[in-house]
Amino acid sequence: MRFTVAIDGPAAAGKGTISKAVAAHFGFAHLDTGLLYRAVGAKVLEGADPVEAAQSLVPGDIGGDALRTPAVGQAASRVAVLPEVRAALADFQRAFARREGGAVLDGRDIGTVICPGAEVKFYVTASDAVRAGRRYLELAGKGVATSEAEVLADLRARDARDAGRTAAPLKPAPDALVLDTTALSIEEAVARAVAEVARVLASRAPGR
Ligand code: C5P
Repeated sequence: MRFTVAIDGPAAAGKGTISKAVAAHFGFAHLDTGLLYRAVGAKVLEGADPVEAAQSLVPGDIGGDALRTPAVGQAASRVAVLPEVRAALADFQRAFARREGGAVLDGRDIGTVICPGAEVKFYVTASDAVRAGRRYLELAGKGVATSEAEVLADLRARDARDAGRTAAPLKPAPDALVLDTTALSIEEAVARAVAEVARVLASRAPGR
């Protein structure tokens, strides 16, 4: 069975947590597409050319806590404006999305550009203050020295760049279900996403 769940939204809205939980619930594979851009951003911080870095990315580049820092996040959003970088990463994401057994991809342009035919699309969002608070706790837990105000400024700068770019800007797909997690616990947000995926799966004819 091929079945794609596309989860987009601004930074720290809860996409990652919801994606992992949905993938675990249904036994689907999960790809955090932000890590691809972060891996390219990290290479650029080391002096690489962004397009060459994107074209030569290997699985070993993707992963590790070093990619999760705010500096790498900013570098990722700067390389993500380049259409050649996005093009170099597109095939891998599309192949992942259509793998046998179902896939959840989270990012900024999954429902709009990478997988416009995804069976289920979510746009996960939350207020700026709530997102900054959550990301601050996550970073503080990892021992990163920062403040909530700094995190808020970082998220806003990244969101503005992501939503304002010409190539695959951050925006909800017209057919995406918007999940505003401002006032939802993580359990409630996950339960809503799981219920929607279950509804769509049940509505499909057997054997497709
Ligand atoms: O999701 P995450 O915060 O790790 O993404 C880092 C950056 O990578 C984003 O701010 C965005 O610029 C870029 N990105 C993107 N398209 C995606 C995923 C991430 O442009 N599908």
